[in-house]
Amino acid sequence: MDLLLDVNIVLDICALREGFSASAAEAVEKCGLSGGRVWLYSGSVQTYDYNLRRELRRTYLNKGMNLSNSQCAGLSKAALSEFAKDKHWLAALAGEGHVFAAEDPEDEQLVRALQRFEEGTIKILTRDAAFIEKCADAITPEEYLQAGPQPKAMDFIDLKSQQNIIRPQLERSIHRVLHHGQYIMGREIRELEEKLSAYVGVKHAITCASGTDALLIALMALDIGPGDEVITVPYTWISTAEVISLLRAKPVFVDILPDTFNMDPEKFEAAITPRTRAIMPVGIYGQCADMTRINAIAEKHGLSVIEDAAQCFGATHHGTKSCGLSLIGCTSFFPSKPLGCYGDGGAIFAEDDTLAEKMRQIRVHGQKVKHQHPLVGINGRLDTLQAAILLEKLEVFPQECEHRWRTGKRYDELLADTPGIRTPFIAEGNDSVYAQYTILTQERDKLLSSLQAVGIPAVAYYTVPLHLQGAFARLNYKNGDFPVAEKIAAECLSLPMSPYLSKVDQERAAEAMVEALRI
Ligand SMILES: *Cc1c(COP(=O)(O)O)cnc(C)c1O
Repeated sequence: MDLLLDVNIVLDICALREGFSASAAEAVEKCGLSGGRVWLYSGSVQTYDYNLRRELRRTYLNKGMNLSNSQCAGLSKAALSEFAKDKHWLAALAGEGHVFAAEDPEDEQLVRALQRFEEGTIKILTRDAAFIEKCADAITPEEYLQAGPQPKAMDFIDLKSQQNIIRPQLERSIHRVLHHGQYIMGREIRELEEKLSAYVGVKHAITCASGTDALLIALMALDIGPGDEVITVPYTWISTAEVISLLRAKPVFVDILPDTFNMDPEKFEAAITPRTRAIMPVGIYGQCADMTRINAIAEKHGLSVIEDAAQCFGATHHGTKSCGLSLIGCTSFFPSKPLGCYGDGGAIFAEDDTLAEKMRQIRVHGQKVKHQHPLVGINGRLDTLQAAILLEKLEVFPQECEHRWRTGKRYDELLADTPGIRTPFIAEGNDSVYAQYTILTQERDKLLSSLQAVGIPAVAYYTVPLHLQGAFARLNYKNGDFPVAEKIAAECLSLPMSPYLSKVDQERAAEAMVEALRI
């Protein structure tokens, strides 16, 4: 539960108002400790300052000291800036401006601001009896303390903590787009593409509407079509194989390695036929496939390599960043991916100028210059708004990758001696961004329900591998064709993971798992 502070509460605490400050401060502290956010309304800054100065002058006068205006101002600013340090600023939006018709414009602003939140997730903390009378979500510090803090639920993927940290930058970036109005291919797109290509270390970065479109555009650029075979794995998100079928080419599955869950290079080589045109290895759960060997085999047979890096963006393989490891690298900015936007998005990476130019054209209806369409393409552009969001997220991404690595290693330690599970294996030369922290256990379903019962949000991904999905029935695969993928699908379990996962929550998750396995 979050709290939005009314001006009188801020004054209680900052002016140390006798009889009031203790309970107000305690409520604010409890909120923070239970994982709630304490919000200050940006539109109230002057009100805080104006009132606090007056309050301070009065307090000191009572003690026989007559402070000058500048002394009052100095004390007020110092107290407010200290108080605001660990609070969140809630933006004042345009709809909270014209409130003159309201009996109390100040209260009306807070009520409107509150309506932006999901019902039941926030209360206004106030001393104002009239406010409490007319607003069901306004409560006093005493009432808040009486109700007791609600325990914070753990997220499987915590996107809120990141937003808390970069909210001001995100809002500024989004508003900039609202003001310049170039919603399609605005300048943020170009700026993001430059930053992405520098980050990965590849000449061309082409943003697009989703990770699926990235893969589709890559295959289209290679003229993959009917009669062609493209080799990939059955243990992945459906997009990887779906785009091959969409182009009426044939997905050819090969099994994965039991340790990394990524493509087995030997099985790949064995599956090559005269019809094979390309290969799409996937970096599942955050670590790259064995791109060194896959590239070598592909080169020997003249095949194009498209890396599906939707889950391993930010990871490296022998020092080279994912998406820079093969002819084409594709990633996704789906919100829960390591680098995610607030909607759908994706990007394609390539070193080759001609290929990159072709993919840029395919992204925009095969258009070369306006109204000239030498190729058949798709509407596959990234929205400017998503690029604006990604620009801010990319700033903190390198640090997040480090946190992800550290969090993964902490799980390894916490779970090291737990019988009955296998923690993730990271291959030599790889690091991982742990898109998921996925363990193996023969008691997966039992463990999953035990964890969920105690509020640990674990998830089992890809429980039915692609070769057994109805969408690929015409390929005539059957149960038993890919024993490793089938075994992993039956035993995998992903634990809560994010760069901001707290040590406390992580320990809670690990303990719950040890406990569940013991029973
Ligand atoms: C998420 C994902 C995709 C597709 O990305 P979207 O942006 O959702 O279209 C493709 N491949 C893998 C391995 C993925 O995890």
